[in-house]
Amino acid sequence: YADIASLGDIPRYHGRTAGERVALMNARRRETFRELDHASSRIANLFIDAGLGRGEVVGFYGKNSIEYFEAMFGASKAGCALLPLNWRLSALELKAVIEDAGPPLILVDREFVPLLERVRETCGVRFGIVEFDSTSDGDSPLKSRMSASSDVDPRVAVRPEDTALLLYTSGTTGQPKGVELTHGGINFMRLCEHLEPAFRWKDDDVMMFVMPNFHLVGTGLSLQGLYNGIPLTILGGLDIPALLATLERDKPTICCLVPTAIQMIIDHPDAAKTDLSALRLVMYAGSPITAPLLKRAMSTMRCDFMQFYGATETCGAVTLLRPDQHDLEDERKLKSCGTPVPLVEVRILSAAGDELPDGEIGEFAVRSPAMFKGYLNKPTQTDSVLSGGWYRTGDAGYRDSDGMLYLVDRTKDMIISGGENVYSTEVEQALSKHPAVSQVAVIGLPDERWGERVTAIVVPTEERSPSAEELIAHCREMIAAYKAPKQIIFAASLPMTPTGKILKTALRKQFGELAATTV
Ligand code: ATP
Repeated sequence: YADIASLGDIPRYHGRTAGERVALMNARRRETFRELDHASSRIANLFIDAGLGRGEVVGFYGKNSIEYFEAMFGASKAGCALLPLNWRLSALELKAVIEDAGPPLILVDREFVPLLERVRETCGVRFGIVEFDSTSDGDSPLKSRMSASSDVDPRVAVRPEDTALLLYTSGTTGQPKGVELTHGGINFMRLCEHLEPAFRWKDDDVMMFVMPNFHLVGTGLSLQGLYNGIPLTILGGLDIPALLATLERDKPTICCLVPTAIQMIIDHPDAAKTDLSALRLVMYAGSPITAPLLKRAMSTMRCDFMQFYGATETCGAVTLLRPDQHDLEDERKLKSCGTPVPLVEVRILSAAGDELPDGEIGEFAVRSPAMFKGYLNKPTQTDSVLSGGWYRTGDAGYRDSDGMLYLVDRTKDMIISGGENVYSTEVEQALSKHPAVSQVAVIGLPDERWGERVTAIVVPTEERSPSAEELIAHCREMIAAYKAPKQIIFAASLPMTPTGKILKTALRKQFGELAATTV
């Protein structure tokens, strides 16, 4: 696909060479690559007619839909960047993102119009709204404006360094930041993932797009499919009955999920009755997966599994744990996030910035031609993590003597208790092996004696409520005593980001005030 250099080239190329092939589908309709090419040209012309110029940002405020890709490719054809807004945000949070990014125009799905109108009343920047309705074939302002605009591709030239997508990080460690991803970066990721034999795209592949569009785990992976002419079946969000129905209806062969989504699928009572036989590859990324969950998923879904590690800033995968490295008998390897994808480099650095030898834990730094350009309007924050092409990920881990990489924690989630480093994920892995634990998050809370107290927030299974003493004793059998929790707090659920990451900042805030009761 040498002709594909920008996002807009995806419908251009496949519209020309495989126009009749289905590109996008959902429970209601299908769209071919030719139709996608024409629809995105109409949207590009609509943007240009509205006065949008090259380099500007257009907002998209709606769940996953066919219109989302029409808008993304339309923005690219007009030389603009697309900002998929997080529809889970409150009015105040949404306002902050819009004021930071300043999109002059936002395409909005009907269900979100009232909230956006409310935001507009107090927003510090002015923006226009074009409404669409992803749930019906009826009329909408977007439809009428598209029919009034030309379907001739405006072909605004874009450069590899131009911003193609503006994605706000989910904010698990602080304020959301707008990550600028470029056409060249996205294209490079496609090229290098193409070099990776693990994908082995097949002509009859269908990819399922279910993770949120405002996150790279959703949009990035779907683009890999579309780049390769693979049809996408689209779900608005993570609705498990709808997902199981899609698996039966469209027979997707590939999907990308976060560990929480995998757990929701295999725990659903209808999963056992669903025909999953078409699925050949489940990719997972975004947060640590526990070995018991991975093993259960592999035996329930009975297909290949491939793990990605990456961040929004890296514009895709940094490492892959390939299907042949998913050996149920080899738990050590199952804990690895694999090896770097071709042409991407990983270094393990000490706090002083020196490269560490194999086996020593430090911060992952990544260099890749796909790297983000910077955080929008935040040069100081950009400079603090990106220098000389190297991005400091904030993830702690090590490399073994076989070159396999292991994540141990996010540097901000590491706990220093009694002068010892405790990696929260290691304690979580140990607790998740207890049969009465459904979900767990381990955090450090301020403690006079220990500095930080290892604290586990546990959601028990429905069948049984374990005691705190029992869970601590279980941990002490599996990991060193100083790593075992000193306090267990039972909860009905854990606060999560839309991509299933546990919001440890919220937990630290919620429980940090509690009296230091040590069990
Ligand atoms: P913020 O940067 O605002 O805290 P965020 O961390 O959710 O938000 P993302 O870019 O969405 O930002 O997520 C990237 C992070 O997700 C990585 O730095 C890493 O901590 C985690 N992650 C990604 N893939 C994996 C994986 N395979 N295993 C464990 N953790 C992962």
